[in-house]
Amino acid sequence: MAFDFIPWNHLIYIIGEITVIVILGALVISFILVIISLYSIRQKKLYFPKLIKSGLVFLEGLMKAMFRFLGLEDREMLSFFIKLHNSMNEPEFTRIPVTERAIFMPQCLRSSQCPAHLTPEGLKCRNCGQCTIGETRVLLEQLGYKIFIVPGSSFIKRMVKKYRPKAIIGVGCLAEVKEGIDMADKMGLVVMGIVTLKEGCVETIVNWADLYEVATLGIDPASIPEDLHTLAD
Ligand code: SF4
Repeated sequence: MAFDFIPWNHLIYIIGEITVIVILGALVISFILVIISLYSIRQKKLYFPKLIKSGLVFLEGLMKAMFRFLGLEDREMLSFFIKLHNSMNEPEFTRIPVTERAIFMPQCLRSSQCPAHLTPEGLKCRNCGQCTIGETRVLLEQLGYKIFIVPGSSFIKRMVKKYRPKAIIGVGCLAEVKEGIDMADKMGLVVMGIVTLKEGCVETIVNWADLYEVATLGIDPASIPEDLHTLAD
């Protein structure tokens, strides 16, 4: 009995056509999203953040390759992703009470002469006055935040499991913040990232005004300690 190959050939042809259409569609959509993203970066304003974020979920690899092809440096790309993420998370973060939020700062922000010791809950700051962490930590705790000064992401995971905050603010270098955001996303936390101004392992610098701006989101200005306003300057 002769086997009829014609329907099979037809089916393979259709599958081939669909594959080509899907690939072309992904390329075109990625290209459009990359152009919107680049325009947003140049204008320092986010356009269609939800659209870009959805695109990144499905087409991250392709979009990253296009960003590189179009000359965007990895640092710019990471910085854009973090801004995008923050802008998407801001409404939800704003709704979460401050008592259910935590801030994770990297231990590299402290003075190189820091006398604090590392404990299972991170560095226990003694407010010795040798760096700005001490004073800032006290003010943010007065506002209702739980503050942790940690050497790495394993501490963040442990503290999140122990204290169960609903939202966190992560301070760190670009790569750390991106890694922290991915980790917090997987853990179902609302996360906002603050990137340090100077990277490295010792005496890094953060713009406290950036932290102030995020930390006070959704908080009644009347309940913000007077001294905390100095962070915004
Ligand atoms: S203020 Fe705290 S973190 Fe900064 S150096 Fe002193 S003990 Fe260390």
